[in-house]
Amino acid sequence: MAETDSRPTNFIRQIIDKDINEGLHTTIQTRFPPEPNGYLHIGHAKSICLNFGIAQDYHGHCNLRFDDTNPEKEDIDYVNSIQQDVNWLGFSWSGEVRYSSNYFDQLYAFAVELINKGLAYVDFSTQEQMRELRGTLKEPGKNSQYRDTSATENLALFEKMRNGEFKEGECLLRAKIDMSSPFMCMRDPALYRVRFAHHHQTGDKWCIYPMYDFTHCISDAIEGITHSLCTLEFQDNRRLYDWVLSNITIDSTPHQYEFSRLNLEYTVLSKRKLIQLVEDNQVSGWDDPRMPTVAGLRRRGYTSASIREFCKRIGVTKMDNMVEMSVLEACLREELNAQAPRAMAVLEPLKLVIENYQGSEVENLSAANHPANESMGSREVPFGREIFIEAEDFKEEANKKFKRLVLGKEVRLRNAYVIKAERVEKDEQGNITTVYCSYDKDTLGKDPADGRKVKGVIHWVSASHGVPAEIRLYDRLFKVPNPAAEQDFLDSINEESLVVKQGIVEPSLVDVQLNTPMQFERTGYFCKDQDSAADRLVFNRAVGLRDTWARMDQG
Ligand code: ATP
Ligand code: MG
Repeated sequence: MAETDSRPTNFIRQIIDKDINEGLHTTIQTRFPPEPNGYLHIGHAKSICLNFGIAQDYHGHCNLRFDDTNPEKEDIDYVNSIQQDVNWLGFSWSGEVRYSSNYFDQLYAFAVELINKGLAYVDFSTQEQMRELRGTLKEPGKNSQYRDTSATENLALFEKMRNGEFKEGECLLRAKIDMSSPFMCMRDPALYRVRFAHHHQTGDKWCIYPMYDFTHCISDAIEGITHSLCTLEFQDNRRLYDWVLSNITIDSTPHQYEFSRLNLEYTVLSKRKLIQLVEDNQVSGWDDPRMPTVAGLRRRGYTSASIREFCKRIGVTKMDNMVEMSVLEACLREELNAQAPRAMAVLEPLKLVIENYQGSEVENLSAANHPANESMGSREVPFGREIFIEAEDFKEEANKKFKRLVLGKEVRLRNAYVIKAERVEKDEQGNITTVYCSYDKDTLGKDPADGRKVKGVIHWVSASHGVPAEIRLYDRLFKVPNPAAEQDFLDSINEESLVVKQGIVEPSLVDVQLNTPMQFERTGYFCKDQDSAADRLVFNRAVGLRDTWARMDQG
């Protein structure tokens, strides 16, 4: 089954339906607000599908806004990769890309408005003092000695902050709300801090930067966002979101709604941890095919349709949960089973010689590109006296369960003839180096004439036409379902998450495009990797044909 057409329903869409029915909004405006401090991951894809999906289905708009208030951690490389990934996922934003930093002048003016209203003050307490005064979840906080500074004085101090007259960490602009609020985020939260940092958009114009909670709600209001969708950890912060907007002069009142973040088994989705994997060289980069990043999944062979389908299947709720990796893998497998062209590749080649095959004769056999879809056509596959088969597809002796090639027995070569293993040649260590066979000339595309039953089918590649290829067998990056719960998540990395094979592939695979997954018959779904060159072929395994982990779990 490929991507389903049905429109999702969820509690957020129900709220929107209600808002439209009650005439609260005529147009729906959402936004996707990534911080450019890392690459997008599959959790972001959930948020992207939600925000852009709503805009599409309601004929509204969705903005792409970089939430760029932490210049030290952000980078233009992230800004670019995020845009590329959103587009690749199949979405386009409304108008130009936006940046919270576009609004720095307005944000500054709103901070001045709060100061004028006696609702913000400059605090020179040390970090230590602030921690003490903040209180705990059980105990209320206490007022800072700077809380009652006059508005006039605060205005002058804030201007000095802006002019670079205070050092980093020397002071903060704080909202004056309620130090005894049961919600920690309402205990006079910071609005601005001093940072002498170069910003990827605003250069050196600013040495004070607004905090997320102050910036986000105002940016939403400036852009006329109707439904501001974020993850559950911001639930308490909604109070601050509403407090800021109700205390400044702006005539737009976006509403924040929270949904649960995606957690996925056998991987991590925190940017801090993903950065650690990259910086520690545990993976080859942000786009390592084992990473849960959009770039990694794309390189691995995931299609954007399979990721959108995954986001549809997991749905949007307020319940925290952990989604099984097999759900994601099934989305890809189902799509590719229906749509991916087939090809033959041998991952661990064993030479096989057909002794009664005529000398140097070469035949081009026809092979269907898809067993169930004739419209995908067929291709020519060269066949000859010497071929490679998969080493594990041959045994000198085996019981009846082994439906492959056994000495003295027959098997069908996929898209070709029935062969019989006659004898083997071994090296000094006793490893089989060549299997000698005979073939039945009269079995191309038909059963043996005398009614012999040949059950097994194995794949193969012509030795003289096959092309060597590096084949990267990827598996889950972690050995445990919830690596984030381990003391050190790096300890649970699966050492076998990448196994490299030197295989042989049929010649038609030389020309396949990057990011267009194929089924290598009997072994899995693969796509050509970007490390390929004119004289080098590299393929990545996107996913196996079956869920081998499920079988293991069942014992
Ligand atoms: P992290 O905590 O890993 O740094 P973040 O939430 O800070 O992630 P942002 O760049 O701020 O990352 O996220 C942009 C948007 O994507 C936000 O609206 C955020 O709620 C959403 N998002 C991030 N991670 C997930 C996730 N795992 N599931 C669903 N939505 C997510
Ligand atoms: Mg964030």
